[in-house]
Amino acid sequence: TTHLVWLRNDLRITDNQALHAACGDPSARVLAVFIATPQQWRRHGMAPRQAALIYASLRQLQLALAQKGIPLHCHQCDDFTAAVDWLADYCERRQVDALFYNRQYELNERRRDQLLAQRLAGRVACRSFDDGLLLPPGSVLTGGGEMYKVYTPFRNAFIRRLTESDLRCLPAPKPRGEALPPPEAPEAFDYPAAETGADFPAGEEAALQRLRAFCREQVQDYLRQRDLPALAGTSSLSPYLAIGALSPRQCFNRLRAEHPSVLAAPESGAFGWLNELIWREFYRHLMVAYPALCRHRPFIDWTDKVRWRQDDAMLQAWQRGQTGYPIVDAAMRQLNETGWMHNRLRMISASFLVKDLLIDWRAGERYFMSQLLDGDLAANNGGWQWAASTGTDAAPYFRIFNPTTQGERFDPQGTFIRKWLPELAAVPDNDIHHPQRWAEKQRLTLEYPLPIVDHKQARLDTLAAFEAAKSGG
Ligand code: FAD
Repeated sequence: TTHLVWLRNDLRITDNQALHAACGDPSARVLAVFIATPQQWRRHGMAPRQAALIYASLRQLQLALAQKGIPLHCHQCDDFTAAVDWLADYCERRQVDALFYNRQYELNERRRDQLLAQRLAGRVACRSFDDGLLLPPGSVLTGGGEMYKVYTPFRNAFIRRLTESDLRCLPAPKPRGEALPPPEAPEAFDYPAAETGADFPAGEEAALQRLRAFCREQVQDYLRQRDLPALAGTSSLSPYLAIGALSPRQCFNRLRAEHPSVLAAPESGAFGWLNELIWREFYRHLMVAYPALCRHRPFIDWTDKVRWRQDDAMLQAWQRGQTGYPIVDAAMRQLNETGWMHNRLRMISASFLVKDLLIDWRAGERYFMSQLLDGDLAANNGGWQWAASTGTDAAPYFRIFNPTTQGERFDPQGTFIRKWLPELAAVPDNDIHHPQRWAEKQRLTLEYPLPIVDHKQARLDTLAAFEAAKSGG
């Protein structure tokens, strides 16, 4: 018999359910494929950097699988429809008996998989697995059998389920015969070239090393440090989780190995970190319960009546980190240069676009996606809808971040700001959050813009726009 593993966003050999199941029969011939779909990626607005990380990870995976005697064939076609055609044909040519893959939960991905299952029905057995989450979508529900719309009760129910579930990691497959000679590198993707950057070396080994170090040395300080962007107080594992070079089970098990009582210690850093992993689950479970989220519909209907401002110049100033608000600009430059942004800053910069510039959150969601190494539809959409007050569990629309006081609170000495805005290097700590005021006093001209909006006025405009929408538009 021939088993084919279709790798998608699960680019690792350890703790990979589909791969593990395909290798369960020692006598089966096991093959693996990955299908790049650059036109589809363009439609989804995927960042070229993320494609580069996928490419680099694939290369490592190909070598690791070859060591195990499993060939990984990388194919490239336009979009999901073409991928289904190609795969059906490939199964025929290679006489595949069973196809193994880990589920993806986005709408287009699910439609693709349904289409494929129809095409293969009666010829190739399709076996799919819940692999990219700690608990499968639909398994954590209210007493009434519905998806939770608010995070905290979801989390409490989630933790109860967690204690009842078997979350052990699966080992990498055993070698199947001789190792294969190192294969040729896959064809370059037909996608804009980009660098992944030195901060995020590709591959599951790099991810596991970072996970181990974080759980051993840093997680205990997580609650104290996680909101301070000048420190490396968070795990920076998101790019690996987003493409599946690392699994959430690996995160959970590592955390529990270092902190066995994590579930019973809600005040601990370890629990605080687990809480973030559960946010990740929450947004995925939501996306499955409310597929309209995949089409960028707001969770709260009336917010679609907000009259957003069409202002390309302002949108561009935000994108380039030229708003005149130092913490927002430093954040956007971190994103543009590295493809990663600290969570506190994602909240501040998203809030600024929506609540200070009154620009449609979807423009921000798209821009983040186009830059992020960890771009993930559910987490990005969830984060944007939270910041824009359009989502489940969102900040209420009348709660509006003040970008200056946020900066003062979370980057008090301006260490992070100075790192990304060298034009403010000379501004003293006390003035770093309003450098223009300092420059005026000093009779200096800064190579830095004046604030593009007045926060107080912007806040009033936004409140009025949301109130008008709420009362009928
Ligand atoms: P850690 O603090 O170490 O957290 C561990 C892991 O938990 C992360 O790697 C991530 O997988 C998950 N996680 C943490 N916070 C959240 C959260 N709020 N929601 C969902 N998952 C979370 N995260 C993405 O992975 N991809 C995105 O495209 C994305 N877009 C976002 C957009 C906005 C506007 C906001 C406010 C948040 C977004 N997030 C996104 C969530 C969060 O900012 C990042 O996951 C986090 O900053 C990644 O850094 P880390 O790995 O050091 O996180």
